[in-house]
Amino acid sequence: MATLKISNLSKTYANGVKALDNINIEISNGMFGLLGPNGAGKSSLMRTLATLQEADEGTAFLDDIDIMKNPVELRKVLGYLPQEFGVYPQITAYQLLDHMAILKGITNGKERKELVEYLLQKVNLFQKRHQKVKGFSGGMKQRVGIAQALIGNPKLIIVDEPTAGLDPGERNRFHNLLADVAEDVIIILSTHIVDDVTELCANMAIMNEGSMVYKGTPQAVISELNGKVWQKIIERNEIDEYQKNYTLISDKMVAGKPLIHVLSDSNPGEGFESIAPDLEDVFFSKINVSKEATV
Ligand code: ADP
Repeated sequence: MATLKISNLSKTYANGVKALDNINIEISNGMFGLLGPNGAGKSSLMRTLATLQEADEGTAFLDDIDIMKNPVELRKVLGYLPQEFGVYPQITAYQLLDHMAILKGITNGKERKELVEYLLQKVNLFQKRHQKVKGFSGGMKQRVGIAQALIGNPKLIIVDEPTAGLDPGERNRFHNLLADVAEDVIIILSTHIVDDVTELCANMAIMNEGSMVYKGTPQAVISELNGKVWQKIIERNEIDEYQKNYTLISDKMVAGKPLIHVLSDSNPGEGFESIAPDLEDVFFSKINVSKEATV
């Protein structure tokens, strides 16, 4: 059982953007979802934990490894799948994993061959192992990415925006693969896609403008909104008016008309119906309402 403990972590870039604003969180084994809109600071946090950039303040420990002070130790137990896994040279899946295994210090040829073949089986690419990665689909590339992240028995796996650009079938296969490996390690899945978290994560946090605006289980945060989410289909020219008069969580087009969700303790009025909240309502209410509160 591993534990990642992040305390008072802050980072301001040279251009003045405060990407991390006093982050505190503790994460244990299993899949942890880090949800936030683009620009929330997710990648900044992921890159800091992956020892690719430094924070200005704060600490992060994986069990007794001080990540800031001892990046070399951390890297030995880290698997990292960045947002874009790679500029692919003209090499095959087998060659790529073999190369990464050498970089991770697995110098024994027989041991490395066994490991690479095992990983190729695990991510269901064994049949394609001698094909060039460059020609793989997005989903297959992501599976190569996961295979390389698993080299060296990592305790912490960081997966940054993994399903962007995958088709639904590929996304499904990728989710199954993550769920499969998540049992023994901490996997942090950073995403702006609410369904990724709903489907996979027992614990989660929502990040916005450099801060954690929620930490806990998806169920607990959804139940906070029970009875408070109302929907209505309105006309397109009415949207400004509703925005002004109600706490709008979200609006989306359904058959050409805006379907709005609003937050209200009681029935907001004519034509609204109460609906069971989902994680998407939570996400938009935490993001939009926290934005309103700071204006
Ligand atoms: P996310 O992964 O949630 O989209 P990021 O961590 O990439 O968020 O970005 C958080 C904020 O920091 C954004 O406003 C982004 O423009 C800014 N930012 C990210 N990286 C840099 C950088 N290297 N230099 C300056 N600003 C950056």
